[in-house]
Amino acid sequence: MEKKEKLYEGKAKILYATDDPDLVIQYFKDDATAFNAAKKGTVESKGIMNNKISTKIFEFLASEGIPTHLVKILSDREMLVKKVDIVLVEVIIRNRAAGSLCRLLGIEEGRELSEPILEFCYKRDDLGDPLINEYHIHALNLATPEEIAAIRDYTFKVNKLMSKFFANLQLELIDFKLEFGRHKGKIILADEISPDTCRIWEVGTGKRLDKDRFRHDLGNIEEAYQEVLSRVSK
Ligand code: ADP
Ligand code: UDP
Repeated sequence: MEKKEKLYEGKAKILYATDDPDLVIQYFKDDATAFNAAKKGTVESKGIMNNKISTKIFEFLASEGIPTHLVKILSDREMLVKKVDIVLVEVIIRNRAAGSLCRLLGIEEGRELSEPILEFCYKRDDLGDPLINEYHIHALNLATPEEIAAIRDYTFKVNKLMSKFFANLQLELIDFKLEFGRHKGKIILADEISPDTCRIWEVGTGKRLDKDRFRHDLGNIEEAYQEVLSRVSK
């Protein structure tokens, strides 16, 4: 398998073509952004840690029957994945209030929710990924009703599986974002699942082990990501 031209460079990853039109390489960078890229920085070795953490989580989810784009990890920063047509809807699940939910509803961080909240956002950097609902999705033809049903079903399953997986590692999954894509007519889980895209708190101490350390200048970012990597590698 040969690495070919750069297809796209995003905020945290670069996509490269391969000699197989169905496969692309995701290259994980150390660049970090927050607040719709208003805050920018780099976190040493973040790309390496996110590549490894995402691989572990995708392998676990695949073993539990969730279709993902992961083919295999190729190197420290490179993951071979199935090329998808990304659904322009980001899916967020919240198990406890944090981040934009607190700002939106004026509730305190850490508040327990009686049941998980599922949110959809329109994947549009220039608009700051606005919150939308299924009516917007259908009116704008962002996904078919069947696709959204599959996405919703997979997302709740992923939440159950990942919450349990993390709980066994003494970690609490507070919230996370997923991206799905179309590959050969089927919806599969794509992008990454890492401390950049999840909020993860240490059970007992409540220590933040995710991108909130970067967002809010809490320090020891590398150590936090390394802690998550060590635990998921057990
Ligand atoms: P952003 O585009 O938000 O800056 P990244 O830097 O993470 O994000 O770039 C990775 C891009 O690749 C994202 O836009 C993501 O939707 C897209 N992507 C993720 N997985 C795949 C895949 N398997 N096939 C095609 N595109 C993908
Ligand atoms: N998230 C993400 N990418 C985004 C927006 C959110 O990975 O473009 C993740 C974020 O890391 C958190 C969850 O989705 O785990 C909920 O994010 P929230 O809406 O609270 O975002 P904030 O505005 O606080 O960054």
